[in-house]
Amino acid sequence: MTRNIAVIRGDGIGPEIVEQALRVLDRVAELYGHTFTYTDVDMGGNAIDKWGDPLPQEMLDKCLASDSVLLGAVGGPKWNEVPGPMRPEKGLLRLRAGMGVYSNNRPAKIWPQLSSASPLKQEIVDKGIDFLIVRELIGGIYFGKHETVTEDGEAVAIDELRYSESEIRRIGRIGFESARKRRGKLCSVEKSNVLDSSRLWKKVMHQLAAEYPDVELSDMLVDNCAMQIVKDPSQFDVIVTENMFGDILSDEASMITGSIGMIPSSSLGAGSRGLYEPIHGSAPDIAGLDIANPIGTILAAAMMLRYSFDLPQEADCIESAVSAVLDGGFRTADILPKDAAGCTKVGCKAMGSLIIENLRKG
Ligand code: NAD
Repeated sequence: MTRNIAVIRGDGIGPEIVEQALRVLDRVAELYGHTFTYTDVDMGGNAIDKWGDPLPQEMLDKCLASDSVLLGAVGGPKWNEVPGPMRPEKGLLRLRAGMGVYSNNRPAKIWPQLSSASPLKQEIVDKGIDFLIVRELIGGIYFGKHETVTEDGEAVAIDELRYSESEIRRIGRIGFESARKRRGKLCSVEKSNVLDSSRLWKKVMHQLAAEYPDVELSDMLVDNCAMQIVKDPSQFDVIVTENMFGDILSDEASMITGSIGMIPSSSLGAGSRGLYEPIHGSAPDIAGLDIANPIGTILAAAMMLRYSFDLPQEADCIESAVSAVLDGGFRTADILPKDAAGCTKVGCKAMGSLIIENLRKG
């Protein structure tokens, strides 16, 4: 398989962590006989410095011409004073909008080797945490009309929450397709006991279920889901939900896994091209020190292989290598236990090299 990947190294630790992900991709390509080529794209603070714009059109066009986009992170204190529309993060928003990615997909997975980092009780963690939250990204209350009016002499704030059937159907399909590529269980989360938008959500999900007989669909109210994620996260495989519920639940889910440096995410729209990135930011406090954890970005590359390129074995190969390195006790500073017992502290580059050494064709 030949694929071109648009690579946004970004700011802060971005270039360091992306470099390790590319080294891993190169080795996977070698093992499985693929060709991955890379097109460098400037976005964020570095693009402001170079082009006076966080995402020049020409750079967005390179992303749109690629098979998928891999991003490190953007932003940093150097650009804090830049005016609103020219801020580094605006580049990211424009990229998401330009790519039309309406689905954000975030795995919550606890690596057994790091289970003590979870704030949950060990007996809950021991049952396993490995689920994916599929969040609608460009609709719902965040994109409805917002206004504050005066009524009877006091301020009244109104936020509109709208969803159309087609908006629900397209995110629903991502949920079903993702479940199909995992353990075949999809939980649709809504608030259908109160909200019309949720009643429509539930109806559309059940219509879609007829097209996916191999996926087991269940429904859950969002308040119950928030409780179940901390009570028994092992019950979930894929959760699909609307924008605001997904925003809140995905932060709750990343918290229970213990380390921000380990978590990848993907954003998808129509077609197979996606945007893949770690969930953390550019960590300017540790940039250039070769101590950042590259695993979130390396796992983002694995997600790209699984979801955009339909290469599940290659994705498994990367995830198994990460697991083997953790089994060997190797840790970057952010995931090193306080007493460091039985562990070896390694830097960003060394972590990348260890993962490469542990890649085995399955
Ligand atoms: P951050 O995620 O960059 O850092 C939070 C803390 O986690 C820091 O102590 C950092 O050192 C640590 N950390 C983060 N990633 C790490 C890694 N891979 N390995 C080890 N430690 C890691 O969040 P922040 O400090 O709030 O934001 C810094 C900059 O990043 C800001 O300019 C912000 O706007 C930007 N940001 C960008 C994105 C993105 O590009 N998608 C996302 C969030 C924040």
